[in-house]
Amino acid sequence: MRTQVAIIGSGPSGLLLGQLLTEAGIGNIIFDRVSKDYILGRVRAGVLEEGTVRLVDEANAGARMHAEGLPHNGFSLAFDGRDHRIDLHGLTGGKRVMVYGQTEVTRDLMESREKSGAETIYEASNVQPHDFDSAASYVTYEKDGTTHRIDCDFIAGCDGFHGTSRKAVPKSAIRVFEKIYPFGWLGILAEVPPVNHELIYANHPRGFALCSMRSLTRSRYYIQCALDEKIEDWSDDRFWDELRRRLPAHHAEALITAPSFEKSIAPLRSFVAEPMRFGRMFLVGDAAHIVPPTGAKGLNLAASDVYYLFNGLREHYQERSAAGINAYSEKALARVWKAVRFSWWMTTMLHRFPETGDFDQKIQEAELDYLTHSRAASMALAENYVGLPY
Ligand SMILES: Cc1cc2nc3c(=O)[nH]c(=O)nc-3n(C[C@H](O)[C@H](O)[C@H](O)COP(=O)(O)OP(=O)(O)OC[C@H]3O[C@@H](n4cnc5c(N)ncnc54)[C@H](O)[C@@H]3O)c2cc1C
Repeated sequence: MRTQVAIIGSGPSGLLLGQLLTEAGIGNIIFDRVSKDYILGRVRAGVLEEGTVRLVDEANAGARMHAEGLPHNGFSLAFDGRDHRIDLHGLTGGKRVMVYGQTEVTRDLMESREKSGAETIYEASNVQPHDFDSAASYVTYEKDGTTHRIDCDFIAGCDGFHGTSRKAVPKSAIRVFEKIYPFGWLGILAEVPPVNHELIYANHPRGFALCSMRSLTRSRYYIQCALDEKIEDWSDDRFWDELRRRLPAHHAEALITAPSFEKSIAPLRSFVAEPMRFGRMFLVGDAAHIVPPTGAKGLNLAASDVYYLFNGLREHYQERSAAGINAYSEKALARVWKAVRFSWWMTTMLHRFPETGDFDQKIQEAELDYLTHSRAASMALAENYVGLPY
């Protein structure tokens, strides 16, 4: 069997790339090691940049996002017991972000893919890219006890941080940059209205907190926690009490609580693999880079990678030009590193680091005070938060 582009991974990068290629008449098959239901059960990102919204529209999967998503014109930075609004819309000349869960984006892309008849092979085990340094690339996978082979022109490694594509690259051909943060995020989902109509990013001596949402009736809250915390030690009551302590009083009093229906601890990491192209295989999204979620950039970076790769592949097939493909890694990495920097900066400014003391807390508060009272500093924050252009 043969296809033009073999896509490993059916997360947001693989699905978005697949849908854009299908809309452009370019053949593709997606392989994922888990089932569709498993993928739809994952709770992850929830803030979409305008560029991501545009791409989902271009992939013909944006109708529900526009009907149910919540456009946000700003967010709050809370510190020293007070709230300071960052007016994204006013500071960026009219830009905003869309709050719409990654799970919903994934569901919409899957539905569009099913309607278009493009093939996805779920529960494919031992998926492997082969010979991507030659013109005879192929992918193998196992299913129902049989090994299958798909020949292809290109392979897109959209299989996340733990995927197989990056691991298939010889160590001498890849360089990895990594920073592990000495804390994690304990997050819960609960069927309660959000405490504020916009997100709140809170710096507090007890640690960072984020009040986020998935809809007007479903809230996503996070608190910074130690890496060795155990989820079973965190009852809902303990979580709500700790969240209240880290918020300004008026928010703590307004917080509505209910039993959580999802609770998890995620470590925080910055990671970049260079380059993002190896012959006829490209790394896309989390397969090539990870950012701490503080800047809401993970999913949005996956989308900008897809933009560069899709346009490169479209130029290859429709205009017989290799320029876009040849520029993919350089263009994608230039944007990746700026988002890595922004996510690192937000994380550093808002979290309590275990080895630091009151001096560092004061420096963070001074930086936040400057940030919220200097228009130039607020503009730089807003410009990065809504997403740098591509
Ligand atoms: C717990 C968690 C919380 C997050 N929260 C946020 C957030 O709040 N904000 C934010 O911006 N970002 C967040 N992120 C990051 C964001 O979700 C990712 O950046 C985004 O999912 C990247 O999409 P992707 O398609 O590149 O990778 P993924 O979503 O990881 O998709 C990869 C796909 O490849 C498949 N796969 C893996 N290995 C193989 C294999 N060997 N063979 C075949 N298929 C394979 C996987 O099953 C998966 O479906 C979070 C991530 C995690 C893990």
